[in-house]
Amino acid sequence: MTWGDPSAREWADWRWQLAHTVSDVRALGPLLGVGARQLGRLSAAAARYPFRATPYYLSLVEWGNPRDPIRRQCVPSPPELDNRFGRKDPFSEASHAPVPGLVRRYRDRALVMATTQCATYCRHCTRKNLLPCVGAGPAWEPIARYVAQHPEIREVILSGGDPLLLPPRALDRILARLRRIPHVEVIRVGTRLPAVLPMRVTDALCRVLANHRPLWVNTQFNHPREITPESAQACSRLVCSGVPVSNQAVLLRGVNDSLPVLRALCRGLQAISVRPYYLFQCDPVLGATHFAVPLRRGMAIAERLRTAVGGLCVPLYVLDLRGAAGKILLEPSRVASVTKRWLTIRGRNGRLVRHRNPCRA
Ligand SMILES: *Cc1c(COP(=O)(O)O)cnc(C)c1O
Repeated sequence: MTWGDPSAREWADWRWQLAHTVSDVRALGPLLGVGARQLGRLSAAAARYPFRATPYYLSLVEWGNPRDPIRRQCVPSPPELDNRFGRKDPFSEASHAPVPGLVRRYRDRALVMATTQCATYCRHCTRKNLLPCVGAGPAWEPIARYVAQHPEIREVILSGGDPLLLPPRALDRILARLRRIPHVEVIRVGTRLPAVLPMRVTDALCRVLANHRPLWVNTQFNHPREITPESAQACSRLVCSGVPVSNQAVLLRGVNDSLPVLRALCRGLQAISVRPYYLFQCDPVLGATHFAVPLRRGMAIAERLRTAVGGLCVPLYVLDLRGAAGKILLEPSRVASVTKRWLTIRGRNGRLVRHRNPCRA
């Protein structure tokens, strides 16, 4: 192993995991089983979009299989350098930021990029072109002041980067500051740590989160093999401390784009008390378009999933459109037609609304 030979106690310590995250893809050479030329191409992809993964997450990879779904999510690959399709900022988040670090695309909700740090960089990340440019975390006071001055905001979503990587005391201060704003009724925390660094979800961290309820944790598991005793324990600690956990998966080509895999994922999540919430169509992001599943295929899988599992197991299959259109539910009763260029949606009054199909298929 490239990370030495830790004791069980070290392995279960998030500090050890973070101190041993692998960020040089060449260190994986012996595990990847690729030649020098291929390794050079992976390094080129990592030079453009940084590589970082925890030993824990890397330990879930089956290295003998080049198409392994965990490997695909964390190890750089040459298609990331394909410049033909995709946008750097698919949702124009930069133009929806009234103050640096706060994105507002809905009247009643504000999304805050609490930090730019992640424990593992997802190759399919929506913000893979943005985060390296943001620098350190945002200035908190202007963000809190903005929220305080906008009484129509009832929900604040901490996103990132991964907010649970913040020191618990800093996180506590931020949550307490938001809680002092009377119109903020609900706080949501988006984090991938239960899947990539579950040992970070300590009892102490859970106490901090539970102190500021109602607070929801939204995590991201994309494949049933990410559900392990460690990640189950992390979710259980959250739920037992009074913090509900739901899941936002991303539909990813070669990772989870089949009914059996999604069914196992959703059932597995329900079995660890995590509610499947969204299944996202992969965003048309520069450097991640090779993950996109054609909409019609995605809709067919999602529709079969809907009847294959119990209602509490069914995520909403959604596509995030630019700007105010927001997230669109991709189900047969809503989608009138899909062509390469256009997506026609049935509006509330039966009126048909045409959007440019960002997925080109
Ligand atoms: C997705 C998103 C939200 C939350 O949307 P929900 O449908 O409530 O999960 C809020 N703000 C922004 C900017 C978003 O992208």
